[in-house]
Amino acid sequence: MVRFDRIYPYDDMFQYLQELSGRFASFTILRMIGESHDERLIPMLRVGTGAKVLLCTAGIHGRESLNPTVLLRMMEDYCTAYEKKETVGGYDVYTLLNRFSICFIPLVNPDGYEIAINGFSAVRNPLLRRLCRMRRIKSSEWRGNARGIDINRNFPCRSYTQQQFSEYPASEQETLTLMRVMSDYDTAGYLDFHSRGELLYYYRHAMTDTYNARCRELAEYLSGLSGYRLGLPEEEFPAKGTGGSSVNFYSEHMQQPAVTVETVPEDCGFPLPVEQCERVYEQIRRLPIGTLACCAASEKNIRKVRGRRVIFC
Ligand SMILES: [Zn+2]
Repeated sequence: MVRFDRIYPYDDMFQYLQELSGRFASFTILRMIGESHDERLIPMLRVGTGAKVLLCTAGIHGRESLNPTVLLRMMEDYCTAYEKKETVGGYDVYTLLNRFSICFIPLVNPDGYEIAINGFSAVRNPLLRRLCRMRRIKSSEWRGNARGIDINRNFPCRSYTQQQFSEYPASEQETLTLMRVMSDYDTAGYLDFHSRGELLYYYRHAMTDTYNARCRELAEYLSGLSGYRLGLPEEEFPAKGTGGSSVNFYSEHMQQPAVTVETVPEDCGFPLPVEQCERVYEQIRRLPIGTLACCAASEKNIRKVRGRRVIFC
């Protein structure tokens, strides 16, 4: 079982994902969806047999180091529950994961994660390593990728603003990887796990009231499951230049609900204390499966729009 007495470094996480996909081969698929700038493969584990997919990502910001390990435990628990036909937090995992699948990408930015937990010597490309060091940011505070770009400001969408000279919308391989997955799959929604604050962001200025009402409905449900409060609409962009995130892109292009989940109390410093893993896990373990239960409930709600039957999910 995934243990919470340490953070799983990239190589260990990769190996564990291979082990999970071997152990639960009949209903999981491990795919390499892309490669980082420092040449680390980005793995995705699809769990379930349903065609419609919930996307779950973590590790977009390097220093937010607990969520990838917590998601690894979540994948293992969902897989075990599916195989044994057991419930997770009262949800019928077997039925829900036959109707839908969950695509887990626990580490979107493996280079930034390795920098944050192992220091700049983790960067293999000597040029990139030197450029990272020149930025004079502590490795434990590192948010970006191996080029020093914040992936969560790099998505092409209405709130995008340029971060630095060498950066433009979707200039980063990690960004392109996620965009490809979002368009390749028929997704029902998206949960993006970050740290800190113990809250849920659902509101998108660029979207319609109808979209935001639908997204709020899901976020309120997830708030009940996690105990996390809802972020206020004015908190979507706390400072200038904080747009261009993966949830902004997903909302605008896929028009399906997307919620940012901020784990860990606001006052935790970096490196985040590994002792928080157990608490975070208890708070968020039901969020993906609970989201699928919401989707299943709203699929029953087939309405007529301009004479056509439309399934709202
Ligand atoms: Zn973050």
